[in-house]
Amino acid sequence: RGGSARSELADLPLRDELRGELPYGAPQLVVPVQLNVNENPYPPSGNVVAAIAAAVAEAATTLNRYPDREFLPLRADLAAFLNADADVELQPSQLWAANGSNEIMQQLLQAFGGPGRTAVSFAPTYSMYPEYARNTHTTWVAGRRNTDFSLDLRHAAELIAEHQPSVIILTSPNNPTGTALPLDDVRVVLDAAPGVVVVDEAYAEFRRAGVPSALTLLAEHPELVVTRTMSKAFALAGGRLGYLAAAAAVVDAVRIVRLPYHLSAVAQATARAALAHSAELLATVDTLRVERDDTVSWLRAVGLRAAESDSNFVLFGTFADRHAVWQGLLDRGVLIRETGPDGWLRVSIGTRDEMRAFRTALSEVAKDLL
Ligand code: PMP
Repeated sequence: RGGSARSELADLPLRDELRGELPYGAPQLVVPVQLNVNENPYPPSGNVVAAIAAAVAEAATTLNRYPDREFLPLRADLAAFLNADADVELQPSQLWAANGSNEIMQQLLQAFGGPGRTAVSFAPTYSMYPEYARNTHTTWVAGRRNTDFSLDLRHAAELIAEHQPSVIILTSPNNPTGTALPLDDVRVVLDAAPGVVVVDEAYAEFRRAGVPSALTLLAEHPELVVTRTMSKAFALAGGRLGYLAAAAAVVDAVRIVRLPYHLSAVAQATARAALAHSAELLATVDTLRVERDDTVSWLRAVGLRAAESDSNFVLFGTFADRHAVWQGLLDRGVLIRETGPDGWLRVSIGTRDEMRAFRTALSEVAKDLL
């Protein structure tokens, strides 16, 4: 039958603001060295695979039933993990989980954003936020950052006063820059905020010693929400498990907008089995931190700029033609991410061998520049 997919899409009554939009996502290419979406390069051990498989087999015996809608056992496990990680005292009622922290953020905007409301963040930052805002009819306002990618607190206060956002999203460590936010900066924003403040800590486990988590501010700040994910440090990107910690009332708000049974029994079983092996799964974090710091040192030693990073990726540059550098790396089997401010590129931290391949490829591609 005639007609391309494109003309059929144009014929549909798509919302005006979605016309011409493309689905978000980095290219999913199968290449030898994949350093483009900030995954953990270490697959689960045989031991962890067996534990997950056993938990999923057990869950499979009741898959004729809908899953536990409130999943309090998982929320208790997540609370126990955070309490140990950040030295806090969270209750299971203060935890909530969904299919990735992407879904958590969308639920937060469904509950606290919406028509006539504004969400504020500070660019460059995670490029999905404006899409969650668009999808929830929330007005999106992006402020700027200092040249070292830290927050410009005076600018932030002005923007907040001007737009009175019902949601402010801070990201620490920030993607794609890797920048961690000092707690004093979070406090300034909390004091200025008329609504909720979300601190996206997707990469928190990779932060350097001495950088406290925003979780430590929850007890004093009922308007604070901290989001985390098992996709990065826990090496569970395929399991799709993101979560938040906040006052129990925030969880109650999100429960109003969540889809019924949004978190499958398989996802719950997988996450609980992984949490039971936290120590083993998180053991890769130290290795990745060392590799990150070595990568930053190498990039600077060869004369490039590399942003300070408290996460499992590094923003580096700058290149007059960053696309050519990205393509040159890809031609050598190394996939990184073309993202961030003009001229910069982002590389996720892989294994030692993968980072060696990255350095070799970049030296070849950029030899005229280095
Ligand atoms: N927040 C930030 C800052 C991210 O970089 C990502 C993933 N790239 C996410 C949230 C979402 O991760 P997930 O949905 O896998 O939890």
